Amino acid sequence: MSDVSIVRCEEYELEGCTRALLAAMEPFGGLDWVKEGMRIVIKANLVEAMKPEKAGTTHPVLLTALTKLLKEKGAHVVIGDSPGQLFNATVLNHVYAVCGLGEAEAAGAELNRNFEQKSVFFPEAKVAKSFTVTDYLENADAIISFCKLKSHGMMTMTAATKNLFGAVPGTMKPEYHFRFHNPMDFADMILDLNEYFKPRLYLVDAIMGMEGNGPTAGTPRKIGAVLAAENCHKLDLVCAKLIGAEPMAVPTLKAAFDRGLCPQSAEEVEVQGELCPVEGFVLPPQNKSLQFENFLPGKLGVVFGKIAKKALQASPKLKEPDACIGCLRCARLCPAKAITMVKKKPKIDKKKCIRCFCCQEFCPKGALKVHRPLIARILNR
Ligand code: SF4
Ligand code: SF4
Repeated sequence: MSDVSIVRCEEYELEGCTRALLAAMEPFGGLDWVKEGMRIVIKANLVEAMKPEKAGTTHPVLLTALTKLLKEKGAHVVIGDSPGQLFNATVLNHVYAVCGLGEAEAAGAELNRNFEQKSVFFPEAKVAKSFTVTDYLENADAIISFCKLKSHGMMTMTAATKNLFGAVPGTMKPEYHFRFHNPMDFADMILDLNEYFKPRLYLVDAIMGMEGNGPTAGTPRKIGAVLAAENCHKLDLVCAKLIGAEPMAVPTLKAAFDRGLCPQSAEEVEVQGELCPVEGFVLPPQNKSLQFENFLPGKLGVVFGKIAKKALQASPKLKEPDACIGCLRCARLCPAKAITMVKKKPKIDKKKCIRCFCCQEFCPKGALKVHRPLIARILNR
């Protein structure tokens, strides 16, 4: 049996998308597991109030197509996510409208308006044994995670596994970044969320992905595929291959490999369909300093690792000062309180900065970017 299926799909047109979804889900029994009356939650990626053509969110045509297929099975369909803002009706109604979810609602989906939060205890977790999550996911008979394939400042790429970070209420996200500020701890926390919720199926909208300054201010890039799997890590391995990301440089994949949840490369995954990597997909600079931690043995290695970290570490930088409108959003969101506003522009205290890239992710003007020092770029070459 296949681990991952990939189906070519060139545009967001309802009939073609429906066919692509059916073909992608076919190796996993299609939707035969859906029984009448089941409450199926589609956990979409609705990271911001972004128009679909910006390629930052799961496309509404795919969500409409999936809703119709689930409704044919008699399911009650709920679509939801918690963007990095207040988790309330005002914010979410705006997000649903801008992200174009009206047609999915007309097709019978309930757009989530349960804004309750819940503290849960998960003793099996590796790092996040207790966490606060959005209640609507707790009440699902089954969850389908439907993500968007994008580049990501902190995690290199965001796809199936990272999508579950949306289970954390928006205003608590900076706190989680602070609590798990090492990228590997953050990745382990996201794996714990996936282990806790155990989505029944993972789908990826990779018809148009996002490259460059993702996950919100990057550039739309045609990939032309819809993917499906039951194992999010194997699915992410295939996504990484599609966009040319080094798998073990993606913290969630490294964490999954370390836990024995997936192999080390897409070559060891059984793929149904044609896997055609996209030429020259632009990824954010990766934090290569992580690889220097064990470069030398003993105390010398620790000292060398610290020096290398400082010299080579990627960090956020105001690369488009003219684009900055002084909205303060980056300063308000920064979990480490590392940003102060000077003459209405953000000034980042590198000593305080924990490299979570929340500021870069949520700058509405794309003014902040991931910056990698020249020496790190040369070494990488
Ligand atoms: S979020 Fe972006 S636009 Fe707003 S102050 Fe920060 S850098 Fe400027
Ligand atoms: S400055 Fe940006 S990257 Fe650094 S801690 Fe604050 S939000 Fe995170």
